[in-house]
Amino acid sequence: MSEIKSQEQSEKEIFEAIDKNDVVLLKSLLSEKQNVNIVDENSMTPLQHACYKGNKEIVQLLLDQGADVNCSEHQHNYTALHFAGLSGNSDICLALLLAGAKSSETNTVGRTAAQMAAFVGHHDCVAIINNYIPKSDVECYTKPQGLQTAPLLPPFLIESFHKFIMQVNIHPVKIVINVYKFVGLSDHLPEIKNVLELMSEKEMKRGSEMNEVMSFKFYYLAYTIGEIIKIRQRQTGSKKDETEEDKKLDVTELFTRKLLKSGKDGQLEFMDRFLIECVREFPFRESTLFRQMRVKIPPSALSVVVSAINGQRGFVDNVSACNTCGEEKPAKKCSKCKIVQYCDRNCQRLHWHWHKKACNRLCQGLAESESQVKPDAAELSAELHNLLVK
Ligand SMILES: [Zn+2]
Ligand SMILES: [Zn+2]
Repeated sequence: MSEIKSQEQSEKEIFEAIDKNDVVLLKSLLSEKQNVNIVDENSMTPLQHACYKGNKEIVQLLLDQGADVNCSEHQHNYTALHFAGLSGNSDICLALLLAGAKSSETNTVGRTAAQMAAFVGHHDCVAIINNYIPKSDVECYTKPQGLQTAPLLPPFLIESFHKFIMQVNIHPVKIVINVYKFVGLSDHLPEIKNVLELMSEKEMKRGSEMNEVMSFKFYYLAYTIGEIIKIRQRQTGSKKDETEEDKKLDVTELFTRKLLKSGKDGQLEFMDRFLIECVREFPFRESTLFRQMRVKIPPSALSVVVSAINGQRGFVDNVSACNTCGEEKPAKKCSKCKIVQYCDRNCQRLHWHWHKKACNRLCQGLAESESQVKPDAAELSAELHNLLVK
């Protein structure tokens, strides 16, 4: 017997290690300059297997080893991204996209990875894939083009800006939080607004590759930033229509307070008006998306805008969300009423102006009904969401 393993044997061991989620074994197998772009009897690559198993560490290991993200020798033309979408791991989807996975590839029944993920209810994967933008798409704005003497965006902004435009949560409160969180953005809002408007226009003019959804998303981000700029100007100017209390608030606090103010029927009046106005001013009026949104608005303007960008969610619409910024599966609850949910202290602080009255009412209501242990609706729907999506 030869001490050197046959090629066939070492390939077989690689697939077995992936199947057993054995990272240590796989690492040792791969250290021998092993080619990872191999296929098993079903024409599946190690990367595709790892994606389907949903093992992020192994996926990254294989990508680092030079695995081809777009290989599709699979008999039904599934790519690694198709398998990742089916497994429901959105981090793996993002890792593949960053490694250059093409989201437009279709399988033998003509479905993209996002469509397959939607089919099995993995909406977080759908959102990551649909919101992904290759960095090369934004790089041109950080370099002078044609006759320009300076780029439209300062080059150091590229990381923050790229991250900002790929955010899945497009709640206006989340946008203003991100504008101040991502380094450098808040110092360059007019330039960012301008670039987003150009990007929106570009998406509409891609001919057969036109993307109405992305066009609207860029426009919507630009529109929201325009509102932030207006609030900031009013804040620094000495307008008489602002109350003393408003003057003490920072831009995030002021914008959030307006957005979350609800009328008697619980409708968010400012938010609805703001979003309806935004949709109404979308310049590409001949687009299908524009016409669909005009038909649907109202009831809740936010849900119309969110589903236009991130797609219909169907049965998981009741997943728990932060009461301030709409982020899903928030980690914290109001410590007093233990009902209203938030991402963190900051989101709770931003909502407190409107929640404090409701909180007292909720506390009293809870004290009265303490004997009849009622399941928390938000908790229940989160449970259900976990069961259905995980
Ligand atoms: Zn939040
Ligand atoms: Zn409370």
